[in-house]
Amino acid sequence: MTPPRQRLQQQLSAPLPEAPELVLVTDLDGTLLGGATPERRRFYRWLAEQRQRVLHVFCTGRDLGSIARVLQEDEPIGLAAPHLVIGDVGCTVACGASLLPLPLAVEPIEARWRDLESRLVPLLENQPGLSLQPVSSNRRFAYYVDLERFDRSLIGRLEAEGADCVLSDSRYFDVLPAGVNKGSTLLALLEWLEADHATVVTAGDTLNDLAMFETGLMGVMVGNAEPDLVAQLPRLPRVYRARADGCAGIAEGLRHFGFDHLFERLWD
Ligand SMILES: [Mg+2]
Repeated sequence: MTPPRQRLQQQLSAPLPEAPELVLVTDLDGTLLGGATPERRRFYRWLAEQRQRVLHVFCTGRDLGSIARVLQEDEPIGLAAPHLVIGDVGCTVACGASLLPLPLAVEPIEARWRDLESRLVPLLENQPGLSLQPVSSNRRFAYYVDLERFDRSLIGRLEAEGADCVLSDSRYFDVLPAGVNKGSTLLALLEWLEADHATVVTAGDTLNDLAMFETGLMGVMVGNAEPDLVAQLPRLPRVYRARADGCAGIAEGLRHFGFDHLFERLWD
């Protein structure tokens, strides 16, 4: 039986760093894409130069098509493809270089979703305050939500069918197979990578990042985090609240966690 790390590597089109000093797991909107442009530029350049020392994972609510668009749009300011991608709020895992889904990670989620999807559809039909987001529906449903019109009792009914619901940034509503989220998928991925948890730092800004922060891994809540996420801080002892927004907040958090040595030269 091939070990998981080897199976994972076989499904990737680019090699992973052999022994990364840091596994950096970043949300996109408001986090890796957040902050002032000069600071983003500086952080992206640093990341690009650390490719052999830092294994970078995107961990986002976006689907693969929308991640591809971001990479294209922000390429001029230096944003490069990560090594790995967790998309669809944890329902997709893909190679960062090719953006092709990794069957090892996606198939078990797909199997659970197939079972669930048809039971959820009738409950979600014609619900006030929900409109489907124009993304492909990959092992989840993604809606925009108008909280003034939304009937919160729907959440209990969806959960009773075996779904988890995530309200995020007061405008996104995701319906996923129960137990699948950014945190659970990240932990599975770290196991396949045989990553030492002491080298892993996550970063995020909204409630769909809460599951990452609940893993007990080191986490950075960036300065511009949404108030409902900030309210969770007291029960997240491993999470550092950065003062700076977006990219500068991630860098601040990495320094807080003792990764200063990776910043020698570039950040000063
Ligand atoms: Mg975000």
